[in-house]
Amino acid sequence: MTLEQALIAGKEVLERAGIAEFALDAWYLLEYVVEIDRSYYYLHYQEELAEDLRQEYEVLLKKRAERVPLQYITGEQEFMGLPFKVNSNVLIPRQDTELLVETARGLVQPGMRVLDLCTGSGCVIISLKHFVPEIEAWGSDISKQALLVAKENAKANDLSVEWVRSDLFLNLTGSFDMILSNPPYIPTGELQGLMPEVRDFEPREALDGHMDGLEFYRKILEKAGAFLNPRGYLIFEIGYNQGEAVSAMMKAAGFGQVRVIRDLSGLNRVVCGRKE
Ligand code: GLN
Repeated sequence: MTLEQALIAGKEVLERAGIAEFALDAWYLLEYVVEIDRSYYYLHYQEELAEDLRQEYEVLLKKRAERVPLQYITGEQEFMGLPFKVNSNVLIPRQDTELLVETARGLVQPGMRVLDLCTGSGCVIISLKHFVPEIEAWGSDISKQALLVAKENAKANDLSVEWVRSDLFLNLTGSFDMILSNPPYIPTGELQGLMPEVRDFEPREALDGHMDGLEFYRKILEKAGAFLNPRGYLIFEIGYNQGEAVSAMMKAAGFGQVRVIRDLSGLNRVVCGRKE
């Protein structure tokens, strides 16, 4: 079987399984298994695919056909132009979340102490530290397994971040000039309606925002003021329909300059406020 025949067969398998991006995913898996890029492929598509690689490709196609997210198969996802390792203990970094980092990047100053709560893969604080190396960066998560991934990502990107295992603020001490968080924010009742890739494979504890989806904002806002220095920033990623609720909660908790920021699709995506 040639590379070209393998790719055609791969596309067919994924299309039959109802994978929306079947052509792209079949390509990414082939690229991953054979360790080639597009330009190599276009010059050598008639080359034979070694039998062991063909078998491996088949196994990975089967996983993808069963809806395992592509990134959990290849173990990687790019975010803010940086490479991140992922596994099923962490949420796969979303492009939407780049707005959280961009917002922080626009407000942060060198020397600031910045904390990322619910850090997961660490993509938010690691990429902020990459773009603004002069900050002191902390990342925390309740999941030990997630922190292992975050640590590996900081190391791979050659950046130093302090990692703390903590249920929100529970094990944290000190004070910060900026707190960031992309907490779980999907109402429990809506989890069932998510794509199978998300619903069945991504960590439930990274998605489930309890009854109304707002539980983590509520809990973080109870303590954020006490952990922020005067004039400190609090910046949240939110669900597209949570802008009003979360900004009202922030104002009620005494934050000023509260604003909601839209993403590239025009949806509310980030809420930002400042300790008065
Ligand atoms: N944006 C993610 C999704 O739609 C949810 C992320 C989160 O709960 N923090 O799958």
